Amino acid sequence: MLNAETRNELCKYAKKIVDSGLVVGPGGNISARAGDKMYLSPSGFALEEIEPEQWIEVDIPTGDITDVGLRPSSEVLMHLYGYRSNPDIRAMVHTHPSHCIAFTLVEKNLPVMFPDQAALVGRTAYIPYIIPTTDLLANAVAEKVTTASSILLGNHGLVTTGRNLREAYYRTQVVEESAKIYLSAKAAGTPVPLTDQEVDDIAALESEDYRIQLLQKMK
Ligand SMILES: [Zn+2]
Repeated sequence: MLNAETRNELCKYAKKIVDSGLVVGPGGNISARAGDKMYLSPSGFALEEIEPEQWIEVDIPTGDITDVGLRPSSEVLMHLYGYRSNPDIRAMVHTHPSHCIAFTLVEKNLPVMFPDQAALVGRTAYIPYIIPTTDLLANAVAEKVTTASSILLGNHGLVTTGRNLREAYYRTQVVEESAKIYLSAKAAGTPVPLTDQEVDDIAALESEDYRIQLLQKMK
């Protein structure tokens, strides 16, 4: 993907994230990878305000930042370490969705409850609260992105990854929906999630085809 395309895609999904209520005000940060570079939201902007040329180019191997007169998001290390940790990742979405945060105030491990969640997201990892913007948080996220495509950050929010922005964005939506479903189920009674076997069966179910069909439906 050309860099210009990456920048336009970032603008598109930044607006979707704000329109979906997944962040409020200047919260959250997103990035996409193109070759050895990542393109990250600048600091101090609401996501929907960012123009294509304002995404900050960072060299993944060296961490060198191309100077465009703007500072990168304060979570630059979280994104950088994430891409270094798992080379399959092409996009990262970090948001502060209200149900995800509410969930981490009362629970740690989000169960897999329904087929779309199993197919699109799978099991969600959890990191207890760590002060934002630190290399401690960046290292904790980098450790989890090798085994999970979604990570709940205690008292903070959510990180999702994907092979493209669309996948990372849909994962954010599905995890937020899952947290919402869990909380409303728990308010009404005792939630009964899918069993490990049921989750594995969905993963085995021509997994790629099923996932692609879901993504088509969600367009
Ligand atoms: Zn955050």
